[in-house]
Amino acid sequence: MRLKIIAGNWKMNKAYGEALMLATEVAHDSTNTKHPGLLTILAPAFPFLSAVSRSIDGFDDFAVAAQNCHFEESGAYTGEVSVQMIISVGARYVIIGHSERRNYFHETDEVLLKKINVALDHRLKPIFCIGETAAQRQAGKHFETITAQLKNTIFHLPENSIGNLILAYEPVWAIGTGVNATSAQAQEMHAFIRKTISEKFGTQISDSISILYGGSCNSKNAAELFSCEDVDGGLIGGASLDHLEFSAIRKTMIAQLTKEKSVLGKKLSGN
Ligand code: PEP
Repeated sequence: MRLKIIAGNWKMNKAYGEALMLATEVAHDSTNTKHPGLLTILAPAFPFLSAVSRSIDGFDDFAVAAQNCHFEESGAYTGEVSVQMIISVGARYVIIGHSERRNYFHETDEVLLKKINVALDHRLKPIFCIGETAAQRQAGKHFETITAQLKNTIFHLPENSIGNLILAYEPVWAIGTGVNATSAQAQEMHAFIRKTISEKFGTQISDSISILYGGSCNSKNAAELFSCEDVDGGLIGGASLDHLEFSAIRKTMIAQLTKEKSVLGKKLSGN
């Protein structure tokens, strides 16, 4: 069974005290709601990675992610943060290729592949984001766009690295807009991504890779999105900034996991 993940991307929000408070509250909310198949990831800004990592110490089902990294190991790159630095403050994951990085900071597939490679070299797990713009979808080019994003990046990785990668399908038109993909749109694209990966790397790999949905996911639409067969959780932006909202989304995934387990149990017992 694939690992389910709820990840909160806090972006450039929350100052030190607020970040610490949010992490503590989310971890506290989880005390009575745990599931062995669910990992919760918090992605604060760089300066707070260390404090947030410490605040979730002892919560084995929690991990911390950076929101970006540089593609070089070290050197004269003023203002940048390396993978080793990120690991040294307790993060185990890194978001790579978020559409805001692609758009505002002009990160190309070529640069993103370098970032993925350096992260994997150091065992920092990438949460790699892909997604089409509204114009690409309207032009009927969404599948083509996603295929190109995959071919230009993770298709260049050796087979034995792919298992350390998490994918996030984040349609650009859904990020921060309040307009989420419908469950039908999400399922269609997630299944397409899985099929594209299986054609290149085989079904064993494609069946095991977690593909998260991101884009205006909240506690109201999470149940429908998470009920999709190929949606393995969410990368949550705005709704991750409030602990009650984020915890509600997390609980929705646990409810989905519980439901799947009971359906499987019934199937196995022939009822
Ligand atoms: C994101 O930025 O990764 C995201 C999914 O944002 P939001 O949930 O706010 O749309």
